[in-house]
Amino acid sequence: AKHLGGNCFQFYTDNLQVTTLERLQLETQLRKGIENGELEVFYQPKLNLADDSIGGAEALVRWRHPQRGLVGPGEFISLAEETGLIGAIGEFVLRQAVNQAYAWHQQGLDVRVSVNVSVHQVRQGNLTSIVRQVLEETHLPARLLELELTESQLLDNVESVIATLHQLHALGIKLAIDDFGTGYSSLSYLKRFPVDYVKIDQTFIRDLSQGGEDAAITRAIIALAHNLELKVVAEGVETQDQLDFLRLQGCDEIQGYLISRPIEALDFVRVLRAHAAS
Ligand code: C2E
Ligand code: CA
Ligand code: CA
Ligand code: CA
Repeated sequence: AKHLGGNCFQFYTDNLQVTTLERLQLETQLRKGIENGELEVFYQPKLNLADDSIGGAEALVRWRHPQRGLVGPGEFISLAEETGLIGAIGEFVLRQAVNQAYAWHQQGLDVRVSVNVSVHQVRQGNLTSIVRQVLEETHLPARLLELELTESQLLDNVESVIATLHQLHALGIKLAIDDFGTGYSSLSYLKRFPVDYVKIDQTFIRDLSQGGEDAAITRAIIALAHNLELKVVAEGVETQDQLDFLRLQGCDEIQGYLISRPIEALDFVRVLRAHAAS
């Protein structure tokens, strides 16, 4: 395997044997890593623009590899999806995040924790019962849990996905469409998904400048979502100019390096207190 830039990890495609061997090694290491408790969950705050408080946190998995240090999900999530390990990873992250949200809730800090769900987990058919079980075990109020699903996975086998989303929504949890605007056109389906939040993909936020194409798209997504009574989260917000634009357009929440990178739960409380609602 070979590192390309910061977060990229690519396999040599010109040598099939090396590729297969390295993938097998990574799979073995990941399997062991899961057993040995090497996975960790980081949390990235979401700022509520109505009162400038931290209303939510996205749970993002990291792998504390014994030799390589902290490894980002870009390097192992797709392999985990192909090998089925995503089921174990997804359940681990869900449990961690729900337990963490409950710990904050007990301290009087109500943070809506969002967990990324992979299409594999939706297809497996037991997602609703796992979520119900985890909520019952921890006694977390369901409204403090959110699941993020990407647009493209919602459109695959749409009728059965809609049925699953209705089951999940009936538990009282929140649902979000992640990376909105990057998939196929799901506009006609949007009103049929029982979702609460739309997350504008960071590719639109990056080049957000007054008058540009991305600004027009972002404005349109916010207007569309609000017409459907959905809340809007913008992700990848790195500059004050981006925040000012989003605030002006009535975006509900923002997430990005401007507020904080994903951080460990212990550090999260400090960010929370620094942004205490006034
Ligand atoms: P995502 O769900 O779109 O998560 C947002 C990614 O953007 C995160 O990368 C986050 O660290 C990064 N990010 C946040 N703010 C900024 C910013 O201001 N600028 C820039 N350049 N990046 C920002 P991360 O943690 O590396 O995660 C990458 C992807 O891995 C996630 O994309 C998600 O698709 C997947 N992933 C992460 N954790 C899990 C998990 O527990 N389960 C599943 N199925 N997928 C996960
Ligand atoms: Ca996400
Ligand atoms: Ca996203
Ligand atoms: Ca993404």
